[in-house]
Amino acid sequence: MPDTDKKWNVLIVGTGVAGLCCALHLPRDCKILMLTKSTVEESDSFLAQGGICMLRGQEDFAAYFEDTMRAGHYENNADAVRLMIESSPAMIEDLVECGVEFARDEKGNFRFTREGGHSRPRILFHDDITGKEITSKLLSCVKKLSNVTIWENVELVDVIAKDKECFGGVVRENGSGKLTDVYADFTLLATGGVGGLYENSTNFRHLTGDSLAIALENGVEVEHLNYVQIHPTTFYSEKHGRRFLISESVRGEGAVLLDAQGKRFCNELLPRDIVTGDILAQMKKDGTKHVWLDMRPVGEKTLKEHFPTICSRCLQEGYDVLKTPIPVVPAQHYFMGGIKVDADGKTNVKRLFAAGETACNGVHGKNRLASNSLLESLIWAKRAAAVMAAERENGISALPQISHEKYEDYAALKAKYAELIRAEAEREEYCD
Ligand SMILES: Cc1cc2nc3c(=O)[nH]c(=O)nc-3n(C[C@H](O)[C@H](O)[C@H](O)COP(=O)(O)OP(=O)(O)OC[C@H]3O[C@@H](n4cnc5c(N)ncnc54)[C@H](O)[C@@H]3O)c2cc1C
Repeated sequence: MPDTDKKWNVLIVGTGVAGLCCALHLPRDCKILMLTKSTVEESDSFLAQGGICMLRGQEDFAAYFEDTMRAGHYENNADAVRLMIESSPAMIEDLVECGVEFARDEKGNFRFTREGGHSRPRILFHDDITGKEITSKLLSCVKKLSNVTIWENVELVDVIAKDKECFGGVVRENGSGKLTDVYADFTLLATGGVGGLYENSTNFRHLTGDSLAIALENGVEVEHLNYVQIHPTTFYSEKHGRRFLISESVRGEGAVLLDAQGKRFCNELLPRDIVTGDILAQMKKDGTKHVWLDMRPVGEKTLKEHFPTICSRCLQEGYDVLKTPIPVVPAQHYFMGGIKVDADGKTNVKRLFAAGETACNGVHGKNRLASNSLLESLIWAKRAAAVMAAERENGISALPQISHEKYEDYAALKAKYAELIRAEAEREEYCD
């Protein structure tokens, strides 16, 4: 973290798909700094298993729109949903251009799979490691850009904001705790979800919703901090740490949920919140800590070809999915709320943008439809980049100074940030 580079054109906080996509779509003469709290390979974007949605043709538009709205309990922003669906073919083209490979049939056409809440197959995938395929390819494209600098193992602890205008952020180096002010014409918050605040989550532990707390501290509008998605099926374990996801597309391909007596008890293809509710009710009825997922109906060929990572992880845990059901339990997975943004990722604070899971553009409403989040993150990041590029002539003219005193007790700061998020989520749950 060199002290010399204090002024940048764009500061991008987060190196998941949202951050990377924004960097790739900014002009090449833009001086960009990207930050990540961990290493570049440790973002939830790398963990995505199931896939990414795409509009297959105009004949699917109405059904895709309706599936997204129904999953979101019709609390979605309909214009945002339309925008995402319409922009999906171009975004997939961008990804393919960047080297991303999706499953194809023998004629070279895309193969599509299905997940809960989808009325028809429209999800592109790469085995069961779609997120790794997309994010690693975006990362290698970004690494080739000489105008992009990446700082790993650093944390944004605040934005530098004055009179509803953002001038960059305060960055803390992990380990040494050294604090540095970074000034930028534009700042993009792309810090992902909130799973690190929960005991049981599929997310990386370092994703603690930092941008949300920073937003709350600085008068940046947020919304629906109480809209948290629980994934119905994560591998049940007594061990601590991140929960291993058993992708919904396994159920999309035929896997069934079983109770303690080995009987099916719900429709596995309903939206996530409904299936989660059914599982929790069944666990209560049976007095168990998990239910069972039987993947054998999927068939050996599909399991081995489409879900190799899930199969081998279950084997490591002592379960051969070809022979026996596996124990599964719901866990925190995704965050629908976030920093309120418009169709271009703009917040209510000048020069401050947000994209990806930390932002709320209204696409997901109260509950996200499976495989819409990578897509939404990418599209809003690209749109934010276009606006920054268009407005870049108008850079910052001042470098406001900021006292570092309030960041020095790091443990107290983190406790305060977690409490801010919890209190706002509770307020929205009970008061709005
Ligand atoms: C197990 C799993 C499976 C999933 N499967 C799918 C799927 O199949 N399809 C789909 O569409 N979605 C899926 N999702 C959701 C999807 O992966 C995420 O919503 C999406 O990747 C979010 O991207 P992002 O760029 O917003 O955040 P992330 O990829 O999480 O990146 C966040 C970045 O911000 C950095 N960061 C955080 N805080 C700070 C800070 N204070 N300072 C500096 N850096 C910071 C992190 O280090 C990281 O680089 C899945 C999620 C999980 C966890």
